[in-house]
Amino acid sequence: EPKTYSYKLVLLGESAVGKSSLVLRFVRNVFCEYQESTIGAAYLTKTLTLKDCIVKLEIWDTAGQERYHSLAPMYYRGAPAAIVVYDITNRDSFERAKDWVRELQKSGGVGVIALAANKCDLEPRRVPASEAEAYAEDSGCIYMETSAKNNINVAELFQQIAIKLPKQ
Ligand code: GDP
Ligand code: MG
Repeated sequence: EPKTYSYKLVLLGESAVGKSSLVLRFVRNVFCEYQESTIGAAYLTKTLTLKDCIVKLEIWDTAGQERYHSLAPMYYRGAPAAIVVYDITNRDSFERAKDWVRELQKSGGVGVIALAANKCDLEPRRVPASEAEAYAEDSGCIYMETSAKNNINVAELFQQIAIKLPKQ
């Protein structure tokens, strides 16, 4: 029978980029136009079946680290995977996402980082896909254009992370 592996996964990024929406789309297949803002952190789990094994993701959807930055390491410490989210219509959120990637890489513990270019259903786009993709490639991140609203690439995002996580 296939082996089960569990991993902690943390979501980071500026507020209102769609972190909670991505998680709720993935775990419960719902979307809310008026998503309530998260207080502290929300914890959800989801189990994925891969080709040779089962991966259980223990997902920490954070909030407030935008304002209380010193709390952030508490969330990503011990997490082998992170999704850093930005909103393609908000340039600042992309700059902030790059800061998160740098911080995670400096911390050394988070091996698999995915950059989620969320709200790809919206216009006008302020961050060219080519630019973000090149950045992701240079920094060794998975890159995915997502829409929690229209359910574009959400399952694929989590699936790629699950595949890339070390199985031992
Ligand atoms: P968080 O603060 O990063 O957790 O962001 P939320 O998940 O609370 O989302 C903030 C707002 O953006 C909410 O009004 C969501 O409905 C909206 N939103 C989230 N994802 C998408 C998306 O992919 N497309 C569009 N059009 N809106 C989104
Ligand atoms: Mg939230």
